[in-house]
Amino acid sequence: MHFTVKNCLINVTNGYITTDVQIIDGKIAAIDSNLPIIGEVINGENKLLLPGFFNAHTHSSEMWFRASIPPLPLELWLASLYDSPPINVEQVYLTALGTAVETVLSGGTSVVDHLILLPGQELETIAAAVRAYQEVGIRAFIAPLIQDEPFTYCFPNGKSQLEDTPFHATAQDILKMMETAIQRFHDPANGMNILLGPTGIQLCTDDLFIGCLELSDRYNLCLHAHLLETKAQEKLAQEKYGCTAVEHLQKIGFLTHKTSLAHCVWLTDNDIKILAETQSTVVHNPLSNLRLGSGIAPVLKYMQAGVNVSFGCDGSCSNDSQNLLEAIKIGAILHNITDQDYQTWITPHKSVEMASLGGAKGLKVDDKLGSLTVGKIADLVLYDLTDLSLLPRTDPIGLLILGRPDHAVCNAWVNGKKIVANGEITTINVDHLKQKLFNLSNWQMRQKSPTFMKLEPHYRQVTGL
Ligand SMILES: [Zn+2]
Repeated sequence: MHFTVKNCLINVTNGYITTDVQIIDGKIAAIDSNLPIIGEVINGENKLLLPGFFNAHTHSSEMWFRASIPPLPLELWLASLYDSPPINVEQVYLTALGTAVETVLSGGTSVVDHLILLPGQELETIAAAVRAYQEVGIRAFIAPLIQDEPFTYCFPNGKSQLEDTPFHATAQDILKMMETAIQRFHDPANGMNILLGPTGIQLCTDDLFIGCLELSDRYNLCLHAHLLETKAQEKLAQEKYGCTAVEHLQKIGFLTHKTSLAHCVWLTDNDIKILAETQSTVVHNPLSNLRLGSGIAPVLKYMQAGVNVSFGCDGSCSNDSQNLLEAIKIGAILHNITDQDYQTWITPHKSVEMASLGGAKGLKVDDKLGSLTVGKIADLVLYDLTDLSLLPRTDPIGLLILGRPDHAVCNAWVNGKKIVANGEITTINVDHLKQKLFNLSNWQMRQKSPTFMKLEPHYRQVTGL
């Protein structure tokens, strides 16, 4: 795992320099001009080298249903997703491959998969995703999506007004399964990390949150959850706890420097203060928030309060893509319409830092990853700046973030291991994957689902529509 990138562009404080970067044993060993060649030579001419980005929140298996659900708010979208045809373990494996490939080819070298578990086959589901990510070679943070309350509880007044059978597993069963998953799959030295990922306040009891905290302490693992994605969840939190969701999660100790929280759209100013004090990370999923009409997360406020923010694509069924560059672009410019003071707007350079170092911070790996620094692990991406979409030549990072780059990723490495060369994934056969995804699906238009029809009147009533 030695190589030397010759004559690539890197960004420095006030612009760009052309330099060499030497990688030895998977780590950045030197950054300087005219370095001796060690290992494979990579021609970096007219190419930009950046640290790999983090796709800091997604649900890989949603890819089977992408673009199939009409525009609906989260709760009704979930009701439709709930009635999706069942998928099997092999399908989980295939969409984890697909998620990894799309993430890597849009600048990501790490993925946080809030992985939907097949009931009764939880460990097999995790094993399938582990296998896929190891085959592609992407760094993975798998947060098995766990909950211990029935689906209808995610609606305001859902618990009291909608009939539902209890969830099929107790918090204790789920935590036991999670402990087995940790012992079996958590292997950070080889790029495979398990996170504790309770779905969110809408479907989890305090027993589950606290159990996750205990496992996080015992095995030194990060925590990941959805937080206040919709206005309905804001209402639900008041109903469930008599305070905001953030206040409650702080009270039970769930907000820590190891906690990353997806969405965070409906927070009060005091909630923001709590996130800053607890050093929790916000994962911004702008496309999903637009697609589901959830709202615009006040990301500039978070940053001004000192909260770390990174970017996620969210699942392929609420985005409906895994193009990280697209999520970063929208996530950066979206706030120009909500916050008048242009001095606080997110610059392309800042958004690159959020996507790399911000992602690493949220997963407590910023001492090892997230920047082009000698001694850090070589999770790197080399972008070809000669594509038509990146010409004529102006600010390379501006072109990459504000433009719509096509085929920009030329090479990528994780842990110093090559996973993309000449714009192609080198570790798996992508044509074979495409063929399988094609063969296992059909052109079709979804009809209104029974769960959707059952729950829509209640949703309209509790949201005042
Ligand atoms: Zn999500």
